[in-house]
Amino acid sequence: MSNKTLQSVSSLKGIGGETEKTLADMGILTLHDLVMTFPYRHEDFRLKNIAETPHNERVTVEGRVESEPSILFLGKNKSRLQIRLLVGPHLIKVVFFNQAYLKNKIVSGQTITVTGKWDRGRQAISVSHYSAGPKTDNVDFEPMYSLKGSLHQKTFRKFMHQALQEVESDLQELLPYNIRHSYKLLPVQEALQGVHFPKDADHVKQARRRFVYEELLLFQLKMQAIKKVRKEQNKGIAIAYDIHKIKDLIATLPYELTAAQKRVVNEICKDLKEPHRMNRLLQGDVGSGKTVVAAIALYAVITAGFQGALMAPTEILAEQHAESLHDWLSPMGIRIALLTGSTKTKARRTLHEQLQNGEIDLLIGTHALIQPDVEFRKLGLVITDEQHRFGVEQRRVLRDKGMSPDVLFMTATPIPRTLAITAFGEMDVSIIDEMPAGRKEIETHWVKKELFDQIIKRMVVELKAGNQAYVICPLIEESEKLDVQNAVDVYEQLSSIFHQQFNVGLMHGRLHSTEKDEVMRAFSEGQIQVLVSTTVVEVGVNVPNATFIVIYDAERFGLAQLHQLRGRVGRGSEQSYCILLADPKSEDGKERMLSMTETNDGFKLAEKDLELRGAGDFFGRKQSGVPEFKMADLVHDYRALETARQDAEKFLASDEFWTSEETKYLRTYLEQSGALNGERID
Ligand code: ADP
Ligand code: MG
Repeated sequence: MSNKTLQSVSSLKGIGGETEKTLADMGILTLHDLVMTFPYRHEDFRLKNIAETPHNERVTVEGRVESEPSILFLGKNKSRLQIRLLVGPHLIKVVFFNQAYLKNKIVSGQTITVTGKWDRGRQAISVSHYSAGPKTDNVDFEPMYSLKGSLHQKTFRKFMHQALQEVESDLQELLPYNIRHSYKLLPVQEALQGVHFPKDADHVKQARRRFVYEELLLFQLKMQAIKKVRKEQNKGIAIAYDIHKIKDLIATLPYELTAAQKRVVNEICKDLKEPHRMNRLLQGDVGSGKTVVAAIALYAVITAGFQGALMAPTEILAEQHAESLHDWLSPMGIRIALLTGSTKTKARRTLHEQLQNGEIDLLIGTHALIQPDVEFRKLGLVITDEQHRFGVEQRRVLRDKGMSPDVLFMTATPIPRTLAITAFGEMDVSIIDEMPAGRKEIETHWVKKELFDQIIKRMVVELKAGNQAYVICPLIEESEKLDVQNAVDVYEQLSSIFHQQFNVGLMHGRLHSTEKDEVMRAFSEGQIQVLVSTTVVEVGVNVPNATFIVIYDAERFGLAQLHQLRGRVGRGSEQSYCILLADPKSEDGKERMLSMTETNDGFKLAEKDLELRGAGDFFGRKQSGVPEFKMADLVHDYRALETARQDAEKFLASDEFWTSEETKYLRTYLEQSGALNGERID
């Protein structure tokens, strides 16, 4: 190919040796890589009205020097040079640090242009950019790139300029004319100019708009192509369940399913029946009743002669699920087994045998249950609870076992729609958007630690009424040992306060799993009234009689986690309370506390969380499938994302997309991304 975009950057003037290495470090090898390296922001050098500039904001002004510079030496190479500048009707101070050489350059009566931070109180600018004379320069916006090594912005811009000229005529236009026309998007050449050498503010904006759309469209095309290919590959199992048996099970449940539960059960069953592999995400706020939905789906699969597996993130949760599902499913003749990290070798061996010869229908456990030595006779469905993402690694394990069971992921962390369709873009999504009848909103209060005595008094009222309470201990990041110490301290404090009146239990990550199990059982059976715990109870645990939860150092938790913790109460029909002990220093922290007191709606909190933390951090450090976009920002560009999603869907469904010249490069992109093999490679 004689396409210049693929030429090495070393073909540019001034690039070789060290510079070439630095660029390679930044992932820039070809001219195409270079021109597609976007600045993280544009410096704004437009003249501003100083009277309207807020304190501490960056501003560019032009004015007449009204005083000879006065200089103060502050030690070695350090100086502070000051002049008075008349900007329109305003006389302000202009301060230069460590630029003593300007003393002889700036003269009274001269016009100069300066950019810097505006101190409103002192009516002063501390200068970051200076030029003699009025602002003639027509560069209003300067891109700032994140560069490595000793590479300077100016040098980099020079390279960029050369590269753009070089490749201009060879740039591939990914976006079909129709799309560009109807959304009024700039052609790629103009858009790249707008990114790197904008004419004005609008040029920057339009350039950004184009690339945001392009980026999101490519991503959505990839996700949906994966979804489509997987469906067409038909590699899954069609599960012929017995609808009558399912109805019988539902009739024996202790309550009527909510309309939302019924709807998602139908969605799941429909998927099971299809011969493709189900790859579905079930979202439902804490307490919305996902467990019973899982039980029904697993039962369905078993009625068709398959085995099922339910995987939970912690042993406590796995055990609790085993109990619930035992209650519901054993009467139907289902044989259930529990497998966790603490299952003894001998028991494990028996269990392996029973699994292989089909004596076990349903295996519940932690990650232990997809270990290589665990073999099923006929696995039809794997459900993972409280998991943001079923790891690529785990899927590989299943595939290596020659199995392609249907998969259902359940999560109680409501995921804002924008993230759901990016992080889980290749999946189908079911949502339980309704709580079981009779639930009351949890009353949430944000209080200072000094009020601890009153909180205890309030807790006693609940305990006397026969209810139970959780106390979640201070969290010390990165130190389990200190967390445990804190838990022990709080436990001792409360034990002495409640004396013989109420029983206090202690739960933390260092306990042996049998000890955890005992504590949890004692709590759920009501022998313990107050459970002091680290965040190990965070996910899933269900004790409907608990109505009071105190969370220490609540400001240290993210909104999603706080909502999860709060979800330990409010699981029955009684009024529940959540006390956030917090003294947040940051605005962010305050907002989180306020949000918690204002709403019980997990989806609203999730949107707020996304807004406060940004997409990258939403799922915690590990990013979990949220790609890093160069331009797009999932918080602000959600409309573009929705549009791109719909367009991608239309594209993939149309014959034209697969044949037309206009969409040639989009097809090339899909081929190269591996999506057409049904693989997701991020
Ligand atoms: P989550 O979605 O957080 O996993 P669970 O499945 O633990 O929620 O259910 C929370 C509580 O609600 C449990 O006590 C469960 O038995 C109960 N529950 C579930 N569905 C219903 C329903 N349709 N009506 C009444 N209670 C229900
Ligand atoms: Mg749950």
